[in-house]
Amino acid sequence: MRAHQTTLNIYEKKRDFSKTAEPRPKRVRTRKTGKPIYVIQRHDASHLHYDLRLEIGGVLVSWAVPKGPPKTTTIKRLAIQTEDHPMAYANFHGVIEEGYGAGTVQIWDKGTYCNLKDIGHDAVSMEQALANGRIEIYLHGDKLDGPYALVRTNYGDGKKNWLLMKMKKKGKHVCN
Ligand code: MN
Repeated sequence: MRAHQTTLNIYEKKRDFSKTAEPRPKRVRTRKTGKPIYVIQRHDASHLHYDLRLEIGGVLVSWAVPKGPPKTTTIKRLAIQTEDHPMAYANFHGVIEEGYGAGTVQIWDKGTYCNLKDIGHDAVSMEQALANGRIEIYLHGDKLDGPYALVRTNYGDGKKNWLLMKMKKKGKHVCN
C-alpha cells in the first residue's frame, strides 16, 4: 500500500461526511504535466491557524502554521504536519459546523509552486524531499511570490514539527 493512501485514511477517519461539507477522500492520479498547486487556508478553529497544503503525489500534503507564513527571511514559523488532504480540498472554503476542525475556512492564498531541489545532477523529487525533511520551493501565488523552505525538526511527537522559512531571493531560484 502506498503511504499516501494510508494518510488519506486518516483524513477520512477524522471526519463524518454526513455532517461536514468538506470533500470526501479521493486520491487523484499524479499529473505529469502542469505545475503542482498549493493553497493556504486561514482556518479560524479553536485556535486560528493557516493550513499550508502542497500537491505531492496526488494528494495535498499539509501543515498547520499557527502564526502564518513568515513575511521576512529572519523569521522561522512552526509548521505542524497534519494529515494529507484530498486534492479537492484546495477549493474548499466555508464553515465546518461541527466535529474535527469546526470553524471557518477561507482560502488565504493559492497558486502553483516548483521544486527548487529538482535541478541538476543531484535533483531531489518532492517525495524524496518530504521524506528527507527538507523542502525548498518557489511559491507563485496571489499573495506569496518567492522561495520558501520547510525543514523538519527533531522536536515534537512523530517528526511532525517543521519550520517554515522564507528564503532570500537569488538568481538561482529558477523554476522550469
Ligand atoms: Mn486546519
